[in-house]
Amino acid sequence: MAEISFWGGVGVIGSSKILIEQGEWRILLDFGLDFAPGAGLFRNGVVLRPEYALYDRLRTGQVPLLPHIYRSDAMHGFPLASGSDGRTALFISHAHIDHIGLTGWVDPDIPIYCSPQTARLMDALAQAGDTPEGHAPTLIPMEEGQPVKWGPFQVRRYAVDHDVVGASGYAVETEDGVVAFTGDIRLHGRHPELSQRFAQTVHGARALVIEGTTLSFGFREAPRTEAAVDELFAKALNETPGLILMSLYPRNLERVESFLSIARRAGRHIVWPQAMALLFRAWGLQDILAFASDVDVDAIRANPASFILQLNPEFLPWLLEMPVGPGSVFLHANGEPLGAFDPQWDVLQDWLKFLHVPFWPIGTGGHASPDDLNRLVEWAEPEILFPLHSQEPDRLIPPPGTMRWLPQRGGRRYSLGGRS
Ligand SMILES: [Zn+2]
Repeated sequence: MAEISFWGGVGVIGSSKILIEQGEWRILLDFGLDFAPGAGLFRNGVVLRPEYALYDRLRTGQVPLLPHIYRSDAMHGFPLASGSDGRTALFISHAHIDHIGLTGWVDPDIPIYCSPQTARLMDALAQAGDTPEGHAPTLIPMEEGQPVKWGPFQVRRYAVDHDVVGASGYAVETEDGVVAFTGDIRLHGRHPELSQRFAQTVHGARALVIEGTTLSFGFREAPRTEAAVDELFAKALNETPGLILMSLYPRNLERVESFLSIARRAGRHIVWPQAMALLFRAWGLQDILAFASDVDVDAIRANPASFILQLNPEFLPWLLEMPVGPGSVFLHANGEPLGAFDPQWDVLQDWLKFLHVPFWPIGTGGHASPDDLNRLVEWAEPEILFPLHSQEPDRLIPPPGTMRWLPQRGGRRYSLGGRS
C-alpha cells in the first residue's frame, strides 16, 4: 500500500516537501527552504553558522526530521540517521528556493531529478555565484513524459507554466494509482497549454497534490497575463522621459528576454547588477550590461533617457547622484523586495518617496488564480485532492466525486489504498 505525507507547505506558501512511500521505497517531491524573511529565530542579522547550518536548521525545526536524507558530514552528531538508504529518490518541480533550496544538504547518493532547463538554470546560477546552501547538488535532467523507474514506482515529468523556466509537474505511479503533483502552476503565463495538458494527462489520478497560493489573498479579478506585463513595460518606456528604475525577477528568464527586446526597440539599455549580468550571460543572453563595469553613474547621468537601471537595495544610495525624480518611474516586476512582507519593502518605498519617484507595479504572479485552480482540478478530476502550499487550503472546493483531504504537517501518513 502506498502512503503520502507532507513535510512542508502545510498552511504556508512555499517549502513543499511531499513523501510517497511504498514498502521500503520512497519518492520525495521537492525539498525547499522555508521562506520567511523577518521571521523566526534567524533574523535581523542573526544567521545560521555556515559550518553548522544544517544542524542549526534541524535543531530549530526548519527542516524535516526524515531519516536517510541528509549528508552525514553535515550532521555534527544530530541524532538522526543520515546517508542514503539506496531506496530514496528526489524529484524537483522547479528552481525556486522554496522547492529546491535544501538540495545542498541531500546525501550525494540520493538521485535528484529535474527538468533539463532547471538543471541548466541552476548551473547558470552557480556560475553567477548563487548556489544552494550547503553543497552544490548534482541534478539529473529528466526528459518529459519518459518514465523513470524507481523501485516499485514509475515517475513521469511534465512541463507546466510558472514564473521560472523549466517548471514541471510529476505523476508518480504507485500500486494504488497515480499521485500527481502540480508543483507551482498557472494558466495566465506564456504557456497555459502546458499546465492544461498536465492536468488533463493526469486525469482520474488517485490523488492530486495542488498548490493553492492565491487562495489566501482574496483574489477577485483575473490575474494579469505575461503579455499584459510586456505591454505595460512598453507603455512605461514610451511615457517616461527620464531614467527608469526597475526590479525584475531574474529567474523569470522568459520575461527577462522579452524586456530586453522591448527595451532595445525603445532605444534603451537595461543595466543589471553584476550577479544578474553573470547569470544572464551564463544563460546565453547577448548584449548584457553590468552596472559599474559596463555603465557607470556618469554614463547614466549624461543620458538618463537611454537607460533602465535594475535596482538592488545596495544601489539605493547611488540614486542620490542620479537624475531621478517625478520624470522617472520605478517599475516593480516581481523582483526584490518581493512584496510588503519583506522588511526591505518599506525601505524602498521610503527612498522612492524621498526622491519623488512614482512607483508602478507592472508584474504578475506565478500562481494560478482561485478560478484557474478550479479549472485545473476539474480537468484532472482526481479521486483525492490535497491542496498544499497555501495559507487557506480549505478555500479550494473540490468538484463532485473528488474527496478533499487537508494535509497535516509531518508524521501523519495518508494511505492511498482502500479504494472501493
Ligand atoms: Zn515557485
